Amino acid sequence: MIMKATKLLVALLLGSALTLGAFAAANAPTPPPAGKKAGCCVKAAADNNKACGHACCVEAAKANKNCEKCGGTNVAAAPAK
Ligand SMILES: [Zn+2]
Ligand SMILES: [Zn+2]
Repeated sequence: MIMKATKLLVALLLGSALTLGAFAAANAPTPPPAGKKAGCCVKAAADNNKACGHACCVEAAKANKNCEKCGGTNVAAAPAK
């Protein structure tokens, strides 16, 4: 019984280690996603499509950007349309 539990624990630990490893491997080569909205803005948009109330986010939105202060990212050089 105890051996079984230990085996299970080891399997779980190995499994999570593998998952973490795969996660890191999948994330390492890719650059941070460009044009990612800040978390607060995503939340606001999910809530009745409201605009985020943060002053910094409002300023960023005016410039057609995602708020970098709140964790958003912008495409380095936006291609001209
Ligand atoms: Zn925001
Ligand atoms: Zn902000």
